Amino acid sequence: MHTRTNTVKIGQTLIGDGHFALIAGPCSIENKEILSETSKSVQNSGANLLRGGIFKLRTSPNSFQGLGSEAFEAVRLAKEETGLPFISEVTDPRQISDLMPLLDAFQVGSRNMHNYELLKELGKTDKPIILKRGFSGLIKEWILAAEYITSAGNDQVILCERGIRTFETATRNTFDINAIAYVKENCSFPIIADPSHGTGKTSLVKPISLAAIAAGADGLMIEVHPQPAQALSDGFQTLNFNEFQSLVHHVKQMLPLFSKTLEA
Ligand code: PEP
Ligand code: MN
Repeated sequence: MHTRTNTVKIGQTLIGDGHFALIAGPCSIENKEILSETSKSVQNSGANLLRGGIFKLRTSPNSFQGLGSEAFEAVRLAKEETGLPFISEVTDPRQISDLMPLLDAFQVGSRNMHNYELLKELGKTDKPIILKRGFSGLIKEWILAAEYITSAGNDQVILCERGIRTFETATRNTFDINAIAYVKENCSFPIIADPSHGTGKTSLVKPISLAAIAAGADGLMIEVHPQPAQALSDGFQTLNFNEFQSLVHHVKQMLPLFSKTLEA
């Protein structure tokens, strides 16, 4: 039984050991205006970290692939306006040097959990890494993937459960609540939950968020957009501003029961 959770600091926001991370923002950055509006709204509701996809790994090559470097200016503006740290996915080691001055943490997506060369390169940086679970990854493989990063010298790793592929098709993925409790018991990396990808359904995001907190999660990552139905990716699992505010209201009621605090 691991009684100690390492803490990881993203910008000035501490995560783990009772400090809760509430990460929110759009699946993909679409333009400056939407990112700015979303960032300000989620901050007002209580988010202490921002997210937004720059390089997207989509199942279909015909789907929106993200703005790439054209999104950099939008990120700078959102950071300046809110003062909040920004997290985005790195999909290729060749992006690291350009993303380094822009981001406060790198996300490794589900499709790259097994990309050991990427993990080793990220291990040479001093940025925190949010390592998502591969959708076919065993918990054991996921922890070993995290050790690729720590072995290369970077111990600032946070695990993120985002659902796995099972025989069930009613939901996009099967959120593995066991994984949260198991990781808390067996290793010292902080673990956060992504109920947006974990369920693939807006209406399920709140109940699974609250269940993840009960299981011991050190944070949540939630997709938010002003008009989910118009979003260029993952609108079907995205919360609008009111829905996010309502989620935060319930999260704030639950956190004290689990000795966790949400700091601005
Ligand atoms: C994301 O967070 O936008 C994302 C693509 O997630 P995942 O890698 O878990 O599919
Ligand atoms: Mn998404």
